[in-house]
Amino acid sequence: MTARERCEVAVIGAGPAGACAALAAARAGARVVLVERAAFPRAKVCGCCLAESGIAALAAAGAGDALAGATPLRAIRVVSGVRAMTLRREAGVAIAREDLDARLVDAARRAGAEVRFETSARIEPDRSVQLTRGERVSTLDARTVIVADGLQGGALDGVPGFDWRIAPRSMMGFGALLPSGSLDCPRGEVHMHVAREGYIGAVRLPSGEIDIAAAVAPAALRSAGSVAACARGLLAGVAHDADAFTRARWRGTPQLTRVRARLAAPGILVAGDAAGYVEPFTGEGMSWAIATGLAAGELAARDAEAHLAWAARHAALVARPKWRCRAIARILRSPALVAAAIAIGSRAPRPFERLAARLEGAVLP
Ligand SMILES: Cc1cc2nc3c(=O)[nH]c(=O)nc-3n(C[C@H](O)[C@H](O)[C@H](O)COP(=O)(O)OP(=O)(O)OC[C@H]3O[C@@H](n4cnc5c(N)ncnc54)[C@H](O)[C@@H]3O)c2cc1C
Repeated sequence: MTARERCEVAVIGAGPAGACAALAAARAGARVVLVERAAFPRAKVCGCCLAESGIAALAAAGAGDALAGATPLRAIRVVSGVRAMTLRREAGVAIAREDLDARLVDAARRAGAEVRFETSARIEPDRSVQLTRGERVSTLDARTVIVADGLQGGALDGVPGFDWRIAPRSMMGFGALLPSGSLDCPRGEVHMHVAREGYIGAVRLPSGEIDIAAAVAPAALRSAGSVAACARGLLAGVAHDADAFTRARWRGTPQLTRVRARLAAPGILVAGDAAGYVEPFTGEGMSWAIATGLAAGELAARDAEAHLAWAARHAALVARPKWRCRAIARILRSPALVAAAIAIGSRAPRPFERLAARLEGAVLP
């Protein structure tokens, strides 16, 4: 017989969404168990730029100290072929995901959540949570389960109705950390290189290492022959250390642009990337994850019928920014539009700087 235990709120996945959900639910007085498949700190394909809305949401949740030592961002340089524009924009920070995620989990633990690493969770058709740690299998019964297992989790695979709908022309993500001198990328600047087949971003982390993250069409990845070659191709001209690219530990993602057929059912709420994702160009995924995680945790702690309110609450938080992100992704698919925008922006950056500031809407739970 497998061991069986109970809690009020179970959270699956300890990325920003899950850690913030556990933090909010524990703060609201619930008995919370946060379950994470990986050992921490763990790497994650990510551009590592947290937008102003995410910074504000963490501060409002009393978790602003998770950003200690993060590098303030002051400019974004967009390059396409031979054209480039630099927009001054003092907004957002760069921070390694290993650091941010571990600190958010610590905040949840300090608030009272019980955290279990190297434990994989799966929801059974009867809504209990099956936990697997090595050879040991146990069952967790929770009043509400918050699923925050990202794009590759599988915690909902056994529950009917939660299928993914993946956009037909969806890109795939990949990324790695490169040593300090392998690329020209001054501290505080985000570099985005845009091409027909996708885009790649680079930012210097507080440690001095350079985080590289890209979204590309699956066919482009195949024809490049390797992820390192694809990255170097997208960064044409600025990648001086070819060996660093070959030696780097590249990680990939499945197709990015997707939505869940539903976001809630009795006893289940879905938050963060597990609820759907668009594309990384606007650097908002972590902010959406933080906002929806905090809101799901708070709702689950105080409302046994949380599932009834969740889809509307989720949409109120992220529907608009996701729509905007989709619109920008569409523009990026047009080389002529990108070239025209850069040609104008390189001579007159102010309107673009003002537009970028206006476009980032607050995502506060
Ligand atoms: C190329 C790229 C660049 C990006 N750049 C940025 C950026 O600059 N800024 C930004 O804000 N966002 C960016 N994002 C998006 C951002 O990475 C995600 O939106 C964010 O990580 C979502 O957080 P999450 O907590 O929902 O999921 P995740 O961070 O994916 O966390 C999910 C967690 O669940 C765990 N897990 C999975 N399955 C199970 C299971 N069955 N049981 C237990 N645990 C499980 C995983 O191990 C993982 O730790 C980027 C994404 C990509 C692909």
